[in-house]
Parts: sequence; C-alpha cells; structure tokens
Amino acid sequence: MRTLFSQKVTFALLLIYLMGGMGLGGSLVVDHKLLDGVDGFAGEVGHMTIDPKGPQCNCGNRGCWETFVSPTAIIRRVGEAVIAGPSPQFLMHPDIAGNPDRIRMEHIVRAAMNGESVVLETLGEVGRYLGIGIVNLVNVFNPGLVVLGGALSLVGPYILPSAQSEIERRAMVAAQQSIEIKLSAFKFDGGVIGGAALIIQKILGNPTLWSKSLTRIPFEDRVFITANVYA
Ligand SMILES: [Zn+2]
Repeated sequence: MRTLFSQKVTFALLLIYLMGGMGLGGSLVVDHKLLDGVDGFAGEVGHMTIDPKGPQCNCGNRGCWETFVSPTAIIRRVGEAVIAGPSPQFLMHPDIAGNPDRIRMEHIVRAAMNGESVVLETLGEVGRYLGIGIVNLVNVFNPGLVVLGGALSLVGPYILPSAQSEIERRAMVAAQQSIEIKLSAFKFDGGVIGGAALIIQKILGNPTLWSKSLTRIPFEDRVFITANVYA
C-alpha cells in the first residue's frame, strides 16, 4: 500500500500514535499492522501511571498520563496558573470575560501564538509530562516514529521542545537513536481516517470473505476505494 486517500504514506517499522481528544488515546502500529492486544484493548497509553499521587483520572486511578497531557488537563492547568498568577491578556477575550472556567483549547492556542507567558510556561510543563510518558514507551517499544494528533498537534510547537529535552535526558540512549516525533497532518480527523483505512485494509486483505459486504457498496465507491489504495 503506497498511497491512501491520495496521501503519501510512509510507515516506520514501529509507530506510536498519541491522540489528544477527550483524554489521551494511543495506538501502536507494528510492521504496518495495528496492534490489537488479546481483547482489542491495546494502546490505552493515557492510563499509564505517571504519578500514583497525581490528579484523579476518570478511570478511577490517580496520576494517569492523560491527567497531565490531555486537552482537559491542559485547560485545567492553564486555569490554575492564571488563578495563581497575574491575569494574562487572553482572559479579557469576550469568550472568557475574566472567567477561567470558560477557557477552551482554541483560547490557549491563540494565547500561545501571542506569546502569553503563563500559557507558554504551562505548555512547557505539559510537554515535560508528555516527554516522560513517551520515554516509558520508547524504553519498552523502541519506536521509529511517534505521531502527535488531535489537540496535541495544535499545541505541538509549544510542548515539543520540553518533551524532547525530557526524552534526551531520560530515555535509554540506544532507544533514542532513530526516534522521530512528528505532528499529525490530519489533526482531529486521524481517528476517522484510520478507522476507514483499517476497514479497507481488512477488505482488501481477504476480498472473498467480504464479497457480500462489498456488493452493498455502490460500484463507483468501490472503484474510488480500490484506485486510492492501489495508486
Ligand atoms: Zn486513568
């Protein structure tokens, strides 16, 4: 499979995808195949414990990775920082009107672009926790590529420097040799595109099993799917 949905796709032999959505999702792609796990549950990296005394997570545990780096965590941390320190300019935005509870990711991205120091410092700290979690994955899986998607790709430029410092400081030297960290070009569409690609891959992997399903797909769509996968 050289191209997919007209996008040039190059896979590392072992790729880890991290998605900042509701929480922090993840997936591992090993030799072009998604790692499912025994119960189809592999990749729940967001619930890897970073600090057993850390913030309460929705899963019931404390200090899961997503309580430090998910969009919800980023918004919470920025809110706490602006309450503790001098009020930054972005709080005056009409959407927020001085109320930190109204802060959303788009406000944080805009404030970071405008150089608001409290936001940049908080994102730097988020990047540090992102790096600590990536170190755990790097030491276990030795990936060639880590891709940051969803909200992580939006704040990527502000969290990557401290994440990379943490990786250089903590990861096993041998496992650092070939690792690349990139921001997803698909941003929030990565999950949907990945899901569609997985279905197409399974259909084309064994068309005879799926022939009845395929006949229900309009002919022109079948031509489009086939053309894109084999292009
Ligand atoms: Zn959790």
